[in-house]
Amino acid sequence: MARLRGGRDYPRSVGEFQAWFGTDADCLDYLEWVRWPQGFACAACGRGQGWRLGDGRIMCAGCGRRTSVTAGTIFDRTRTPLTVWFTACWLFATAKDGISALSLQRSLEIGSYQTAWAMLGRLRSVLVRPGRDLLAGRVEVDETYIGGEEPGLRGGRARGKKVLTGIAVEVSEPKGIGRCRMALLADGSSASLHPFVTGHVEPGATVITDAWMGYHGLAGLGYAHQRRSQRAARARGEDPGELLPAVHRVASLAKRWLLSTHQGSVEEAHLQSYLDEFVFRFNRRRSRSRGLVFYRLLELAAGHDPVRYRDITAGKRPRKIPPVPPATRGHPPSLDRPPAERPWRAADLDNSG
Ligand SMILES: [Zn+2]
Repeated sequence: MARLRGGRDYPRSVGEFQAWFGTDADCLDYLEWVRWPQGFACAACGRGQGWRLGDGRIMCAGCGRRTSVTAGTIFDRTRTPLTVWFTACWLFATAKDGISALSLQRSLEIGSYQTAWAMLGRLRSVLVRPGRDLLAGRVEVDETYIGGEEPGLRGGRARGKKVLTGIAVEVSEPKGIGRCRMALLADGSSASLHPFVTGHVEPGATVITDAWMGYHGLAGLGYAHQRRSQRAARARGEDPGELLPAVHRVASLAKRWLLSTHQGSVEEAHLQSYLDEFVFRFNRRRSRSRGLVFYRLLELAAGHDPVRYRDITAGKRPRKIPPVPPATRGHPPSLDRPPAERPWRAADLDNSG
C-alpha cells in the first residue's frame, strides 16, 4: 500500500475523527477499507470478487461464502456498537498513557465495568503482530520483578504477586533508546533467558547483560555477548545500578505506568497483556501522528482472529483456579450521532407560532 496520508487515510485530530465517524455505518465502511484496502478478498477461497447483500454482508463470487466486515476480527459478535469501539480505539491510541477500564466506562457510559475492561482486554490482545521484527544492533537485556494487585474484577482486590519479567532494549551511543520488548519469565535460569533473547533479538546483534550466569552461552547462540560486571563497576567507582541504563529506564517507566494509568498493579494472569500495551506505546512514542497509531490499532484489530471473553479473563499463563466470569455485562448504546437539529433553537420556533 502507498504511504498513508493524514486527513485521507486516517484522522489527524479529534475534530476529524468526529466528522468521519458519526455513525456506526461510517465506522463499518472504514473498517472494511482497513481490512481490505485492495478490495474484498474471500477468506475461504481467496477470490477477490463478491456481491454486497442487503444485510451488508458480502457473498464471494467464487465459493458463495457469505461474510461480514467484522467476521473473523475482534469485533465479531460483540454487541458493542462500532461507534463505541472506534471511540475506545481513539482514546486508547491517542491518550499518551492510555486509558483505564474505569475511565473508559465513565466516558462512554458503558453499562458495566466488566464490558469496558473486556474491550480494553481485546484491544491489548491484538497488539503483538505475529512475525514482528526482532530487535537489532546493540541490545541491553535484563530481568526484573513487576506486578502486584488488581482492583475490581471480583469485588475486592485480587492479590497477585510480582512476576519476573525479561526486558530487552535497543541502545545507540551515547544515550539513545530504541525499541523494547518485555516478556514474563518462569525464572532466571538460562532455560528461560536464552529463549527470551532468541525470541526477541536478531542473531548477530550485540547483547549486553550483567554477569548473571543465566546469560552464559549467548555467544554460542550467535550473539556478540558483552557482559558487564557489577563488581568491576564498583571497583571502578561507578554506580552498579547504572550498568544497564536503558533497561532500567524502561523498567521504571513500565512500573510507573502500571501505577498511574492502572492504579496499582495487575493480576499475574493479565500482566503480559498490560506489558504488551506498554511496549506498543513505548515503541510508538515518537510517532508523528496519534491518528496514525489509531489506524495501526484498527489494522491490527481487523487482522486479528476473534478473541473470546474467556480468552481475556483467563490470561496467557495457566492458572490453578479458573477465573469467575463477571455476573453482569451491560452493553453500551451506540454513539451514532444524527445531524444536529439544534434543540436549543426549537424553543424559538415553538414560541414564534
Ligand atoms: Zn470464496
